[in-house]
Amino acid sequence: MATVYLGLGSNIGDTEKNLREAVEALAKRGAIASVSSLYRTEPVGFVNQPWFLNQVICLETKLSPEDLLKATQQIENNLGRERTIHWGPRTIDIDILLYDNLVMATPNLTIPHSWLSERRFVLEPLAEIAPTLKHPILEKTLTELLQELKNDKAVVILKERHSD
Ligand code: AMP
Repeated sequence: MATVYLGLGSNIGDTEKNLREAVEALAKRGAIASVSSLYRTEPVGFVNQPWFLNQVICLETKLSPEDLLKATQQIENNLGRERTIHWGPRTIDIDILLYDNLVMATPNLTIPHSWLSERRFVLEPLAEIAPTLKHPILEKTLTELLQELKNDKAVVILKERHSD
């Protein structure tokens, strides 16, 4: 059984519903161990698009990294993700951030996720649910990486964890 951290993002349609449906679909591929608060975040890259809703979840799963990627891509397709612009609007985006202590890089899968330590919209929710977990390459905790982050993009908690 692997402990995996997944980053979810949505900025088209009913973003809260999109994240909820993605989490429900992911729950069928393992057991959800924890979920972060929901964060309203300013777009990075292609900036002329709506703000995102982001969340990080921890999933305990028996899937291999490759099978997990297939599963997340299937969920993205099922939820009707539209991709016309690189880094542009999307119904749901699911990134594999961490997979146990695994370090791997193949043409279609890099773990830990390449820009995990540079994106506040990932690091903030990730450090919320796994503050003392260490990045397997950088060998710093997620809290330390968050403190070192120089990135002025806004990340605002929309809904606290455990509040309905
Ligand atoms: P994007 O949806 O823009 O985040 O990128 C999707 C592409 O990134 C897919 O073709 C994946 O094969 C590739 N990719 C590489 N590493 C990862 C990862 N850790 N999690 C999700 N997708 C990844």
